Amino acid sequence: METGKMLKVALVTGGGSGMGEATSLRFAREGMAVGVLDINGEAAAAVAGVIRKTGGRAIDLRADVSDKAQVAAAVSRLREELGPITVLVNNAAIEEFGAFNEITEDSWDRLMDVNLKSVYIVTQAVLPDMEAISWGRIINISSYGAQLSAPYMSHYFASKGGVISLTRGLAAELGAKGITVNSISPGFIDTPMSRRAIGEEQFPVAAETIYGAYPIPRLGKPEEIAAACAFLASDDAAYITAQTLGVNGGATV
Ligand code: NAP
Repeated sequence: METGKMLKVALVTGGGSGMGEATSLRFAREGMAVGVLDINGEAAAAVAGVIRKTGGRAIDLRADVSDKAQVAAAVSRLREELGPITVLVNNAAIEEFGAFNEITEDSWDRLMDVNLKSVYIVTQAVLPDMEAISWGRIINISSYGAQLSAPYMSHYFASKGGVISLTRGLAAELGAKGITVNSISPGFIDTPMSRRAIGEEQFPVAAETIYGAYPIPRLGKPEEIAAACAFLASDDAAYITAQTLGVNGGATV
């Protein structure tokens, strides 16, 4: 189905910062109405405010993506205020560093809940809207680390590997219903999350040494992830599903 003049309503989780913010702004420029969801309500409100000020349609939604009841309430509000949701970007996540032996059970559970279980929770809440019109786009943000790996982030990478597998499983189930499901695996992107990790000197070597070795030797920009999300959400990507698109400066070479 060509979407033509259909108003696309997008839900972007973690939309208050970094890639989620850039994707929310990009989607609004593409003419979509956007639900900017974040655990940081002020950040979500600021992004939705920018969209509205520039003539777009957006609402901010404060919710923890790992909390089923909060997500259900946010999704209902978005549906009531802007319409059925047809584009979903599961982007919210947290990262943590530490030697494998020092990972606590609480920390393992929190990472899995926010980074992986959330994809199940949010997608299940949104899916009926897509199934009702036999059209939908689901984009899950994983990480190049799930493909390459590195020390001291094994729980984070395990959660992101799960996101890639869940993407493929969902794609297999939903393709015949007109819904595509893809993952974007960002490389080292210049966002508050990565700036925090660089500032705390969490990497075994200097950040420049890591991204300087990539074929494109620089940090990626959040807008470059947003551009990939916009493509996967477009009619041009209708025959692309179950894929993991690396937007990583060639890091996986
Ligand atoms: P970011 O700047 O930290 O933005 C993530 C947003 O999600 C923040 O506003 C954060 O709020 C929010 N959030 C955290 N936990 C949440 C929860 N439980 N419920 C709802 N919102 C929550 O991160 P980013 O760098 O843009 O990352 C976006 C995605 O790319 C993530 O999935 C990340 O794992 C992935 N990624 C990032 C990089 C990179 O180099 N930056 C590389 C590979 C993959 P708080 O700030 O209050 O926590």
